[in-house]
Amino acid sequence: MLGFSPGSIPFTYLGCPIFVGKPKAIHFQAIADRIKNILKKLDTWIRNFVWSGDIHTKKICTVAWSKVCSSYEVGGLDLRPLSNINVSLMLLLCWKLLSSQDQWALLCRARYIKDGIPMRSFIKSSIWHRMKPHFNTVVNQSIWLIGNGERISYWNDNWLGKPLVDLLQIPRSIAKRLHSSVADMIADNVWIIPNYILDVDADLSVRISATVLPITQVEDRFVWKDFMDGLLTSKIAYEFLFPSIPNPNWTVKVWSLFVPPSNSFVLWRCLHGRMSTDENLQKRGCTLVSVCVLCMVDAETSHQLFIHCPFAAALWCWLNELFNHTFDTSSISNIFDSCKSAWDAQITDLATTSIIHIFHTIWMARNDIRFNNAVVSIHAVPFRPKDVPRIRSLEIAQHVVD
Ligand SMILES: [Zn+2]
Repeated sequence: MLGFSPGSIPFTYLGCPIFVGKPKAIHFQAIADRIKNILKKLDTWIRNFVWSGDIHTKKICTVAWSKVCSSYEVGGLDLRPLSNINVSLMLLLCWKLLSSQDQWALLCRARYIKDGIPMRSFIKSSIWHRMKPHFNTVVNQSIWLIGNGERISYWNDNWLGKPLVDLLQIPRSIAKRLHSSVADMIADNVWIIPNYILDVDADLSVRISATVLPITQVEDRFVWKDFMDGLLTSKIAYEFLFPSIPNPNWTVKVWSLFVPPSNSFVLWRCLHGRMSTDENLQKRGCTLVSVCVLCMVDAETSHQLFIHCPFAAALWCWLNELFNHTFDTSSISNIFDSCKSAWDAQITDLATTSIIHIFHTIWMARNDIRFNNAVVSIHAVPFRPKDVPRIRSLEIAQHVVD
């Protein structure tokens, strides 16, 4: 009468699987796949947005995503893929699991860890399996700061640079039966050195005796090495797992604080050889007849447009005169490196700003002519009204240089 027909189990209701019996991985596979897909899609959307301003529009002339996701120091845009963020948050969570005294951490430690190492037997957990691979990293990168010594295992924890069982090469089968805490080995604020250590390694006993104990009652702390306050943050975790090797060249200067990022973006793409000039579009399979619209003489390449074209050359000439200095225009990155080392920070900032500004100006003039049929005169370019304050500061700079 109501039009319902009898169904059969299993089926999906409001996106949730309905079934009889214990939940199994296969029941939730569809949901897990959907989450994985969304994460992948998010990265694609971010990537499209960076290049086109629209999440659905893909551009062809782009810098590799892995490069974009590296830090400013190595020439990227400091974006972070979501999958990497997830991995670094798992490292952070694992560190918190070992360092925190919160109830969740006490509970999880009791469930997942035995004798200072992850349990061998299988543990049903939605999160532990993602944390477990980071366990050794956390242990190796952290050290205990002794407070009252109650939380620290004397033999098995790292409070001396390495655990005592490692320094003394005590086998694992014996190590797991050593349960003394650091507090057990201190009496009246003085170390009690076991006879075994005195006999086997006299130097080590000296090192232990020299380890300073706190005068007041404080809690033991598990700290991340090499950082002042020892607190691991998501940023530090990310940089630890995905480090970037600094490149002292142009990479940081491009993102000068004095320049709008949209202007810097033009130069950043030029330095990566990824400006959508005719040359680069042809390389990616676009069939087009190329001519530089600024001079109507040569074919348009990045080098021609930004350096060699009379329009660009006039601007570089103007910059040379202003700074009373010859910038090296043999390549795009050389221009950037050719600021005089004797200049003080302010003049260098001005020169950097001007270079970025010239690249942006050339690109905007080129687009204005090409897409809006505008007429752009070389004399008008450096003195557009919005640039006047900048030009004035350049004139001031010139006096300083003189
Ligand atoms: Zn030209």
